[in-house]
Amino acid sequence: MDLVTVTSHRAARGREDLALAPGETLLAGGTWLFSEPQPEVSGLVDLTTLGWPDWESLPGVLRIGATCTVSRVLEAPWGPAAGLVRSAADSFLMSWKVQHVATVGGNLCLALPAAAMVSLAAALGATVVIWTPDGGVRQEPVADFVTGAGTTTLAPGEVVRAIDVPTASLWLPTAFRRASLTPLGRASAVVIGCGARVIVTASTTRPVVLDADDLEAGLAAIDCWYDDPHGPADWRAHVTGVLAREVRQELVS
Ligand SMILES: Cc1cc2nc3c(=O)[nH]c(=O)nc-3n(C[C@H](O)[C@H](O)[C@H](O)COP(=O)(O)OP(=O)(O)OC[C@H]3O[C@@H](n4cnc5c(N)ncnc54)[C@H](O)[C@@H]3O)c2cc1C
Repeated sequence: MDLVTVTSHRAARGREDLALAPGETLLAGGTWLFSEPQPEVSGLVDLTTLGWPDWESLPGVLRIGATCTVSRVLEAPWGPAAGLVRSAADSFLMSWKVQHVATVGGNLCLALPAAAMVSLAAALGATVVIWTPDGGVRQEPVADFVTGAGTTTLAPGEVVRAIDVPTASLWLPTAFRRASLTPLGRASAVVIGCGARVIVTASTTRPVVLDADDLEAGLAAIDCWYDDPHGPADWRAHVTGVLAREVRQELVS
């Protein structure tokens, strides 16, 4: 939709361009920003002109740039984890067109429970690389970065630069399960096994990391079941339990 209150657009070329004036907001793929009215936004600062690489192989980590699109992320050198990445990308309720512009960083920052890049990154034990307004950098596990439905630890002026995925986690055994109310509906529960960990998203307001060896206690302790038109909380809790047990079984078989 047209954002009728927007009167300016700046293409960011360097870090100094990311200081926002009143009314400005960061624009990545724009798939959410342009999907609903933004009455408080009068200017857009485009991150996609920063020229960040979609991915870089750094010592010990695969770095995925925040502006990498969901469709491009599939082409990164995931090695044995490529199948898991495909399953995560396919779990979006998202058209082909949207997948080609929606970014990994935008998905993390929006922090919807059904944010498939959050599911994937949390499962692989990734950390978020965040540029702070004082010129510094801070890093935080993705599972801690998302604090609730639509909320993160991002402070005013902070920008997500990338996610760093430990390359060691790409070689761990993985399992993926997803449930939704309708075959092509928005994810109501996503459970991913990675090594000895089972990660729950979509059915909870934030990512929950469980120990596969202590699964029942971990499931019983979950206190953030999500409730919306894509599934009531009690149903999500039940389905998540079923999927988590399947994932644990697949990890050991
Ligand atoms: C048809 C359709 C289906 C969708 N299905 C899903 C779905 O199944 N699951 C889901 O999670 N979402 C879904 N979405 C919502 C949205 O498209 C995705 O979450 C997408 O990944 C957002 O990325 P973007 O690059 O388009 O973000 P944008 O719309 O550009 O930005 C989203 C927000 O994040 C901020 N932001 C973006 N990048 C950064 C950054 N690097 N640092 C700091 N802040 C930043 C922006 O300022 C804005 O507030 C859907 C949208 C549509 C239109």
